[in-house]
Amino acid sequence: MNLLYLNGPVQNGCFTLADRPGKAVGIRAAEALNTLLGAGPVPHLWNTVTLAGDLRHRDAHDRDTVGRQEREERAITAKYAPAPAPAGGVLTDTAPAVTALALEMTERLLREGVLAVVPTAVRLCTRCGHMTGSVAHTCRACGHHGSRPHTRRLLVWDRPPGTPVLERDDFHAHRSRPPHHLLTIAHNVPEQLILSRTRDHGISLAPLGLDGLVLDPRAGLHIAVLAAAARSSAERPVMTVTENAAANVAAYGAPFRRHNGTRLRYALHGHIPYDDTAALQRLCEVHRVSPALKELFLTWFLPLCSLHLRAGITPAQLPALLKFWRRVHLARPDTPGSDVPAELRRSVAAGDMRWVMDLRTLSRVIPEHPSTQGFAKEPEGAS
Ligand SMILES: [Zn+2]
Repeated sequence: MNLLYLNGPVQNGCFTLADRPGKAVGIRAAEALNTLLGAGPVPHLWNTVTLAGDLRHRDAHDRDTVGRQEREERAITAKYAPAPAPAGGVLTDTAPAVTALALEMTERLLREGVLAVVPTAVRLCTRCGHMTGSVAHTCRACGHHGSRPHTRRLLVWDRPPGTPVLERDDFHAHRSRPPHHLLTIAHNVPEQLILSRTRDHGISLAPLGLDGLVLDPRAGLHIAVLAAAARSSAERPVMTVTENAAANVAAYGAPFRRHNGTRLRYALHGHIPYDDTAALQRLCEVHRVSPALKELFLTWFLPLCSLHLRAGITPAQLPALLKFWRRVHLARPDTPGSDVPAELRRSVAAGDMRWVMDLRTLSRVIPEHPSTQGFAKEPEGAS
């Protein structure tokens, strides 16, 4: 089995996973599926090439003593605290393995003529010099309204007309469920995409003669997934991602989804209404759901559910899901730890998630404990 689920790199913003568990849905879903496949553990992937990160670093009082890379790493560690770091470690989109793979792939794509470095007309912020893109708009780095035209050599992807950036086969999903909305969005992507950006932090394109430019992070996060897959010799990485995120990044990742026989596909998942914790707590009391069972509901069942209910789980659906979960738990066989049924493994490998609503199947594979590390508010054993 060389299929492996990996989370779409999460933006390394200002939050902890205990406070914003919704950010960990892709991580948790990937972990649950890998466990069913008998694969993993895999690293948790983080996206550190962000404009917000540039601004945070520029404004930090300790920027002279703490480097940007270190700041990103500290922020990631703090996300899991006080729980331990994940068993499979973490991997950022600027890790040496990702950078090396990115340059290797970009050089190959340039040789093959898929990508090109060409003089391109863009707009630069007249105050800070940030490249705002091909059309004039307010600078996202400093908020300034003025920009000026500028032509510079950039890494671009000029697609031949009619070349799709996303096809049905790019999704790891049951045949009956193609994401029509995303496929429609993909038809409206401009024929030229700029793949180099002005950022303080990222995969430097200086080795390609593009000083001061980094690879567009939307491309880079695909490469992070490929690098993590290569580490596990997995040729079929599947990246868990929300439909919104996929709509934002898929076009930029299109030239970077295949490399040396490896092909990345997407598994879409919906939003989970974790923020409604008070209502959830009430529900658990009404249904006499134990804290352990509640934890499994939140960290295992709902993430799996979100791959099936791709449009998102609504707060109104939670009572029914919790009732179902309780019935699933009551149907648990007496001898836990039995093997994952081969049929279920085949479904998971095929991206078919309908089994998650099948009481009998689900009851046979409930983990003894939440296997996911790094999400508890308190470390195990703490009072
Ligand atoms: Zn600016």
